[in-house]
Amino acid sequence: MSNSWKSDNWDDFINGQNCPVCDLISSNKSEDAHGIYIADLSFSRLFLAKNQYVQGYCVLMCHRHVIEPYALTTAERTSYFNDMALVGRVLEKVFKADKLNYNILGNIIPHLHTHILPRYFTDDAPNRPIDPDVKKEYLSSEGYEERINLIRSHIKTVQ
Ligand SMILES: [Zn+2]
Repeated sequence: MSNSWKSDNWDDFINGQNCPVCDLISSNKSEDAHGIYIADLSFSRLFLAKNQYVQGYCVLMCHRHVIEPYALTTAERTSYFNDMALVGRVLEKVFKADKLNYNILGNIIPHLHTHILPRYFTDDAPNRPIDPDVKKEYLSSEGYEERINLIRSHIKTVQ
C-alpha cells in the first residue's frame, strides 16, 4: 500500500483537467454533493456546506483554476482575499461566531478554495483546528434556505 497522499487524479487536477471545482463553476450548478450555491463575489463563488455540523461552514471557490494564491495576479489576489474577508465578516455577524478560521488546503482538490469556519467558544475543538466533517449534521431544505438567505442579505449590506 502506498504511503503517499497523492491521488490518482492529482496530475490531471494540477493541469486543470477534470477538476471538480472548475466543473462546478462552469456548469453553474446550484448544488453538488457537498454544498449549495450562495453567491458570486468579485473573484469567487460561495457555497454553504451541506454538512452544517460547524454552524455556518462555507466554502469559497476561486473563479480561476490556480493551485496556490501566488499564481493569481495581484488584482485577482486582492479580489479573492477581499471576498474571503467579506464572507468572514458576514458569517461572524449572521452566526454570532466568536472567531473565524480560514483553511486554504487543497490537498484533495488542488483548485484554490477556502473553507471558512465560524468558531464558537463551546465547539468541540478548543485551541485547535476543527474538522468540519468529524460529525454530520444535515438540515431540512427550509433550514438551508434560511441560512443562505441570511448570508445573502448580509452580503448585500456589507458590500
Ligand atoms: Zn479547477
